[in-house]
Amino acid sequence: MKKLALALLLAAAVVLTSCSSGKMLERDVFAMDTFMTLRVYGADEALLDAAENEIGRLESLFSATRESDISRLNTEGSAEVSPETAELVSGALEYCELTGGALDISVYPLVSFWGFTTGNYQIPDSGEISERLELVDYTKIRVDGSRITLGEGMNIDLGAVAKGYVGDRLCELLRQGGVTSAVLNLGGNVQTIGSKPDGSDWRVAIKDPFKPDENLLIVGVSDSTVITSGDYERYFVGDDGKRYCHIIDPSTGRPADSGIASITIIGKNGLMCDSLSTALFVSGAERAISLWRESEDFEMVIVTTNKKILITDGVDVLSDLSGLDAEVISRE
Ligand code: ADP
Ligand code: MG
Repeated sequence: MKKLALALLLAAAVVLTSCSSGKMLERDVFAMDTFMTLRVYGADEALLDAAENEIGRLESLFSATRESDISRLNTEGSAEVSPETAELVSGALEYCELTGGALDISVYPLVSFWGFTTGNYQIPDSGEISERLELVDYTKIRVDGSRITLGEGMNIDLGAVAKGYVGDRLCELLRQGGVTSAVLNLGGNVQTIGSKPDGSDWRVAIKDPFKPDENLLIVGVSDSTVITSGDYERYFVGDDGKRYCHIIDPSTGRPADSGIASITIIGKNGLMCDSLSTALFVSGAERAISLWRESEDFEMVIVTTNKKILITDGVDVLSDLSGLDAEVISRE
């Protein structure tokens, strides 16, 4: 009898502690060509299963290389798509517009021509580049309800924006499941729900683009997304000794070369952060800063190719900046 009482007491204690601290569950997923980790407090395995299934479902809508809404659209030029694909494409088009075409989801023919889809890298000649550039023009993409139509011969790719959008959908799913504290890492895109269970901010590391195994600085965030685009993520070195990265400048058809080594966007919306990280990597620091001054929605950390760090004044930097060539950018 005593034993039973003790067992019950122990069981009650376990339940109490797991409720009050919100037991942490972690799930590793490989999807969308990248490693993802979901660290969620106060959820059960069934909710993590649902989140993992949702990643797979969305990937099978957005992939440009597998059977999906997007590959059907690219083959047929016009297609009926799922609500999520229509939402993502029309949301991305708004950022194409906002960034004056620095983001252009129709730049895919050049991404693949340079070899970034297969790893068979090449430096095309300028004639070949101009030929393919004729197919790049996001203004020719139409979204009418669930039907998307591309211009003649065009192909699109959501690689620049899909992970941010998927992160938003996952946060929504987890919040609906009652989660108030979580950190999701989708291949370097970090999305957070609430703050840490102890109430303090999440600490998110920004990598040193010149030594990607090391952290450059740590930022504090809650209920926010931290998304980086960098030239160290995917690139090749040409016979000419130059480094060519996987983000293409749609105005030249060549890998972006704006003087940015990495740019991190911090904000509430994953689609916005993912869109802007890619677009402003193309635009360069000066235009990135002027867009930031016109907007209240995001903060950023830029590391230039000459190793200067530009930090907008709303970023909560938790690490020591001394010894770094860092400048805080203000609104004036
Ligand atoms: P990652 O997905 O590697 O974290 P990004 O979000 O910056 O990095 O997206 C880069 C991907 O977006 C490329 O691999 C390519 O598929 C696509 N892309 C490259 N340049 C552009 C561009 N200017 N506009 C839209 N998409 C682009
Ligand atoms: Mg992006």
